Amino acid sequence: MNPLHKFDQEIANASDEATRLALLNRYAFALARTGDADAALLKVEEAELLARKLRDDVAQGRALCTRGICRYLHADYIEALQCCMAACATADQHGDQEGLSAALLAAAACHYQMGTLEEAHTALMQALGILEVMPDDGMAFRAHNTLGAILSNKQKYDEAESHFDEAIAIAARMDDEFNLRRALVNRANLHHKIGVALAESGETADAKAYFERAAGVCESMRTRDSEFKALRDVAGCAGTLGEIYVSMERLEEAWVLFDEMLNLGREMNNPHVQAEALMHLGKLHISRGAFLQARDCLDESVKLAAGANTQHLVARAHEGLANWFEARGEFKAALAQYKHYVEVHEILLRRELDSTSRARAIWVEYQQARREAETYRARAERLSAKNEELAAQATRFKVDARHDPLTGLANRRGLDEQLIELVAAPSADRFALAIADIDAFKSINDGFTHTLGDAVLKAVADMIRSQCRHADFPARFGGDEFVLCLPGATGEGALQMLERVRENVAGYDWSALDPALKVTLSVGIAERTQSDSVETLMRRADEALYRAKNKGRNRVVLG
Ligand code: GH3
Ligand code: MG
Repeated sequence: MNPLHKFDQEIANASDEATRLALLNRYAFALARTGDADAALLKVEEAELLARKLRDDVAQGRALCTRGICRYLHADYIEALQCCMAACATADQHGDQEGLSAALLAAAACHYQMGTLEEAHTALMQALGILEVMPDDGMAFRAHNTLGAILSNKQKYDEAESHFDEAIAIAARMDDEFNLRRALVNRANLHHKIGVALAESGETADAKAYFERAAGVCESMRTRDSEFKALRDVAGCAGTLGEIYVSMERLEEAWVLFDEMLNLGREMNNPHVQAEALMHLGKLHISRGAFLQARDCLDESVKLAAGANTQHLVARAHEGLANWFEARGEFKAALAQYKHYVEVHEILLRRELDSTSRARAIWVEYQQARREAETYRARAERLSAKNEELAAQATRFKVDARHDPLTGLANRRGLDEQLIELVAAPSADRFALAIADIDAFKSINDGFTHTLGDAVLKAVADMIRSQCRHADFPARFGGDEFVLCLPGATGEGALQMLERVRENVAGYDWSALDPALKVTLSVGIAERTQSDSVETLMRRADEALYRAKNKGRNRVVLG
């Protein structure tokens, strides 16, 4: 059974759409990894629709990255690169490091295929930087495998080998058959190149050993069980083994393999694979003296390779054509043809340069956008810090605006807001309101000092506060007047509580402030009736206070 079918089951059982979206993205990526671009694209499209619906930008970026990998599988490298760069930008913007390193790796692979090796290298280094902080075996594998290929192309064989070794070790540790095959074939390819270099410098025996070792690995890949084969990998393995056989002068066997590669390329609709196979077949035709067939193959190869923006392949196909002229020995006709080919070559070269510079431009644009995003992010961070500061300030202002700085009690404004809420409570709830006023406070101010008057206000406020329960709301109404909201209290209960306050104030040892100081308090209380508004309730409490004052002060009156 296809091991990926478990995703179908999981997606069908997904408990919500966000889970389904995450699974779709993972499914699409897994399919792309097996080289099945068409099946992967279907899942990508489903994921993109759902991501748009859920407004999940991060998931949308991930889907776009997989879309890029699908384009890559069709050898549409420019468009693939565009998808990957857009995915990079999205991941960057949302701090999705995993998505960013995945997109960078895919971008590096595109650059590698197009021959923009420096850009490939930079993207890989950036991805490796992320992987250092956030290790991930799957991505580390891709990084080492692509780095190996880039270094091999730059003829840095030792470094390339150590990266392939690392990739092979990771794949083996992960028990990942797909990746293991890929890296083993890549290393065999490298060994073939080393063998060719040795043969050119006359070290035939060493060269042969490399060829045999490389051929052995590819042969065993071809006979290994088939469940984990991706068409592209099978084609790559056939191509590599074919090249090794050519070096070993086993041309008939090579022929069969390149033919197989061509058919696989057609089956996959991959122009790159087809171009490579045709280039090899063209060269074999030349060695057989089948010039017309050679020409057809090489022409077709140049066309496909140019369409896929694969510079190195275009160059190799031209090299094949050069051989064709040489081998044919028809110098006059050859010269005319040659001029024609030079023209074609120039056009191709220009187109190649174009696509290379497009690839470079996409990359430069991305790096620029990245720097801008970084600036924006830093600015956003500064702004959000500033915002937090402003929000805290606003909260402080709001609190300050509703409190009396001297006593720490709510002020008139805080009281008004609270009263509206408390009085609006269901009328069945009991509620009492008291107004307390310090007796002859003016004479305290005048007889002592205003500062001492302030100390008295503070002390009285503390005594009021200490008698309050959690739900009670004491406030300084202004001057020497305090208002107490007492939810749940009857008039009688309020009377008892304020009697305690009055006693505490009158009995307080004021000598610390001044030996001659005496302070008393008069209080008026009103219990809310069903018909009371804030105003009528306040008025009745005020009238009660007035009576308390009139009766001689230092007393509590329930109105
Ligand atoms: P009564 O017994 O009738 O209440 O007489 P009273 O002197 O207390 O009269 P009234 O309540 O009108 O006097 C309030 C005084 O409180 C007037 C004002 O000078 C003083 N006052 C108002 N705010 C403050 C303050 O913040 N600090 C001080 N020390 N005094 C204040
Ligand atoms: Mg007073």
